[in-house]
Amino acid sequence: MNACAISLTHVTRRYDNAAALDDVTLTAPQGGVLALLGPSGSGKSTILRLIAGLEPVDEGEIHFGEELVSAPGRTLAAEARRVGMVFQDYALFPHLNVIANIAFGLDHLPRAAQAQEALRWLDRVGLSARAGAYPHELSGGEQQRVALARALAPKPRAVLLDEPFSGLDPVLRGQLREITMSALGETGATIVFVTHDAEEALLVADRLAILKSGRLLQEAAPREAYDHPTSLDAAAALGPVNVFEGKVESGRVLTPFGAVAAPHLPEGAPARAVVRAEAVELAPGADARVIDRRPHGAHDLARIEAKDLVWRALIPARLATGESVSVTLQPAGAFAFSV
Ligand code: ADP
Repeated sequence: MNACAISLTHVTRRYDNAAALDDVTLTAPQGGVLALLGPSGSGKSTILRLIAGLEPVDEGEIHFGEELVSAPGRTLAAEARRVGMVFQDYALFPHLNVIANIAFGLDHLPRAAQAQEALRWLDRVGLSARAGAYPHELSGGEQQRVALARALAPKPRAVLLDEPFSGLDPVLRGQLREITMSALGETGATIVFVTHDAEEALLVADRLAILKSGRLLQEAAPREAYDHPTSLDAAAALGPVNVFEGKVESGRVLTPFGAVAAPHLPEGAPARAVVRAEAVELAPGADARVIDRRPHGAHDLARIEAKDLVWRALIPARLATGESVSVTLQPAGAFAFSV
C-alpha cells in the first residue's frame, strides 16, 4: 500500500489576500492518524484540499514521504497522489448502485475483479446485504460506510476524512467511528481526520494538531496536548477551562480558588492561570459558594463563586455539595502562561 508520512512545511494558502492557512508546519505519521481540531473557519478543510492536490500552496511545501507533491508553481495532480477522501455529505454517485459506487475507482482491474474487490470492501464495512441498493435507499450511516469502502478500495496511500460523522446521531456516530477506525487501521494507510469535536479528536488521534484562524496552535500526541497545553487557546480547544489574570508570586499565581504553580515564569511578571473544569475539586467547606449545578454527561457542571469571580467545576454527579464548599485545584489540570 506504500503508506507514507505526509508533511506540511511552512505552508501558507491565501484567498483574496487573506491567509486561510498561515505558515503551518505539521506531519501525519506514516500509517498513523493525524487529527485536525479547530472551530469552523480555522483552516482544517483547506489543509485537506492542499494534501489532496485540489488546490496549490502559495508558500511552503508538502511532501509524501520523500516525494515533493506541492510547492508554489508546482502541484502534483490529484489523480497521481493516490489519496482517498471521505466527506461529511458522503458524495456518492446517486445514479450508481452501492457496488458500482465502490468499483468506480477500480477501473485498472478486470471487470470481474472490480466487483469482487468492491464486495470484499462492502463486507468489511458490514453492508454486503445492500450491494444492489441505490444511495437514496440507504440511511446516512450506511451511505457513510459505502463512502468509506469506496475510498479504501483503490488502496490509497492516504485517506482524508472531513468531519465524516457530523451528520449522524451520537450513538450511531460512536458505532461508525469504531467501524471506520478499525477498517482504516487494517489498510495501514496514513490518515488525516478533520473534526471540531475535541472528544472525537482525542479518541482517534495518534497526533493531534490544534488550529485557530489558519494558524497551528499546537501539534502533539493527544495526551501531551491535554496535559501540557502551550497556550490558553490550545487548552480551551480540548475542554472547558477557567481563567484568572494575576501575577507570579513565589513561583505561583494565586487565584481566589487556590494557587497554580508557575515555576517557569519570572517572579512578579503578569501571568494567566488556566484551570480545566475537571481539575476544580469540591468538598464541604467554606472557600467558595455554589451558584448552581446542572447535568453534563456523567458529571455535573457546577458554577462556583469566590471574591466576585465565577469558575466552572466538572464534578462527579453523585457528589453532594452544599451552598458552601472548599476548593482544591488539581495540579495536573492547572497551567500558568505569560501574558
Ligand atoms: P474549516 O475547515 O476549519 O472550517 P476552512 O479551511 O474551510 O476552515 O476555511 C478557512 C478559511 O478560508 C475561512 O476563513 C474560509 O472562509 C476561507 N476559505 C476557504 N475556502 C475559500 C475559498 N474557496 N474562497 C475564499 N475563502 C475561502
